Amino acid sequence: MSWQGIEGHDRVAEMFSRAFSRGRLEGSFLFTGPEGIGKRTFAFQLAKTVLCLSPDGFVPCGTCESCRLFDMKYRPVKEEVVRDEKPLPAKSRRAAPPSLEPDEPDDPLAFDIPNHPDFYYVSKPADRAQIPIDLLAGPKENRGRSGLCYNIFRTPYLGSRKVAVIDDADFLNEEGANSLLKTLEEPPRGAVIILIGTSAAKQLPTIRSRCQSVRFLPLSLLDLSTVLVNRGIAADFDEAKRLARFADGSCKNALEFNDASLETFRPVLYKQLAQPEIDALAFSKRVIEFVEEKKKDKEKARESELKRRRLALVLARAARFYRDLTRLLSGETSLLAGNIESGAELRLAAKNRPDPDRAIRNAERTVGALEQIDRMGNLPYIIEAWLSDL
Ligand SMILES: [Zn+2]
Repeated sequence: MSWQGIEGHDRVAEMFSRAFSRGRLEGSFLFTGPEGIGKRTFAFQLAKTVLCLSPDGFVPCGTCESCRLFDMKYRPVKEEVVRDEKPLPAKSRRAAPPSLEPDEPDDPLAFDIPNHPDFYYVSKPADRAQIPIDLLAGPKENRGRSGLCYNIFRTPYLGSRKVAVIDDADFLNEEGANSLLKTLEEPPRGAVIILIGTSAAKQLPTIRSRCQSVRFLPLSLLDLSTVLVNRGIAADFDEAKRLARFADGSCKNALEFNDASLETFRPVLYKQLAQPEIDALAFSKRVIEFVEEKKKDKEKARESELKRRRLALVLARAARFYRDLTRLLSGETSLLAGNIESGAELRLAAKNRPDPDRAIRNAERTVGALEQIDRMGNLPYIIEAWLSDL
């Protein structure tokens, strides 16, 4: 059984369902858990249920005016409207035509935002490092008279409830968080406010203490495989299971693993790591090429984000390779069975580099390089230093 087709979060659904049936589903919630496991999907379905005018138990009817409006979605515009410090109020943003050209039509993780007058959605614009306070409390010249905190207190258009979702809550700065405190502490009656972040530790204590915390767990292998098939990311269950195996319960990870160019680069990487000595100079060039080959994005910030993500993929695979090599060298040969991804190269590496201490050091050095990605802008430097240390 899965609540409204959402795999893997029945426990959370059950909890909300109980509160809902007792008429007590309201207030501020903090959803946490890794990216790509369905927190936003869950928040949206919860909103639809809460706003529905004649729900059937804990399921929206799908036909009332509220459900109909909720299903009229629009694709978010990547470059937000805040650049000139004059964002349109949430209401006019919602009026954006639903036919807006999505800028990444091939992105299976792209999602649409419900176009409902009593639903508000705020997230970090792609070109910003943080959630601008303007979206929460209105622009400077209009502070407190627009934005999410203002809108949620206005009389609902339909029914008696309002729902707000604040996505990317990891990127709330102190100013933005402060503007939210009063609203989170005493939301209007019947309102539901949901913050979505990756972990409770990443939220400011003032936010944490005002929200009921709801933890979402990574998806099981079976649930993730089902999601991958349902979303058309995997062609069949076998392919889904193959992708899910390395994805730590996250759809986002599975997709990255599915990146076709990584598929071709992976064997090249493993083969090089299995050599007695790595040709650091030549291979650095090859890794840099791979990291930079992704199509150019019109947004500079996004382009460098794409490069960082690609390097993170390479390093994560390399770290796994060295961890597996360490285990193999300490006699755990069972991990070779059925390992079509890197079994042959691991065997070769164990022959070429039979030193377990070196394998551990290399695993640690690779994780170190992974951690440098967010701190340092110079990716070629990270790559060269990493490879010459191996
Ligand atoms: Zn309905």
